[in-house]
Parts: sequence; structure tokens; C-alpha cells
Amino acid sequence: MNGGAICGGYDFTARRVLLCPTEGRRRRFYCWYAHWYGWTYECLGCGDRWMDGERGERPFARGWRAQSIARAKAGWDRVTVPAQARRATFAAMMRTYLTTGRYSVTPEEGGMP
Ligand SMILES: [Zn+2]
Repeated sequence: MNGGAICGGYDFTARRVLLCPTEGRRRRFYCWYAHWYGWTYECLGCGDRWMDGERGERPFARGWRAQSIARAKAGWDRVTVPAQARRATFAAMMRTYLTTGRYSVTPEEGGMP
């Protein structure tokens, strides 16, 4: 997972604790950034996803919520880079991208604004 826009590849991941609009309470969110799509936030409490302030479409499938929650928890557990380092790396990546049009860091270095 590096550089280009490869579907399914997450370029940056992060943990956030935010107010879940579905549940109306603070929840843990597993977040990932993908080129072209921007940030997606997945709630560890209810499994809903949020993109650009809009709730993601809920799958028409039995058990989707439990699967979504499990996926978000697994993602949360994989985020190992400290938040401050992620933010700094992401900011540097965006600066490079905005000036050169190219990405400059690896996904493992991760980051978010
Ligand atoms: Zn929620």
C-alpha cells in the first residue's frame, strides 16, 4: 500500500474518539485515508461509517453491523503509530502533495490531520 490509488489499499490509518452521530455518544473510530476518497471513519460501537460528513451506505446483508464492528476493532488494534507522529507525517505528506502532486511517505508512517 503505497503512493497510488489502489482500491482497497489504505494509505493512512488512525484512531479517533469522536461523537457518533448514530448513537449520540462518544465512541472509538477506526479511520483510514485513501487517495481520491479522503478519510473514512468507522465506529467501533455501531459499525456505521462516515465519509465527508455523510453516513456510508449500510450493506443490505444480515449481520453487517457485527462484521463492521469486528473489522473496525481489528483496524483499531493495527494502528500502532503514535497520534502526534501520524499527524506530523500526514501534514508533511500533504505539503509535498500540494506542491509536487506526489506522495512522499509510506503508509506505515501513517497520519491524519
Ligand atoms: Zn456508533
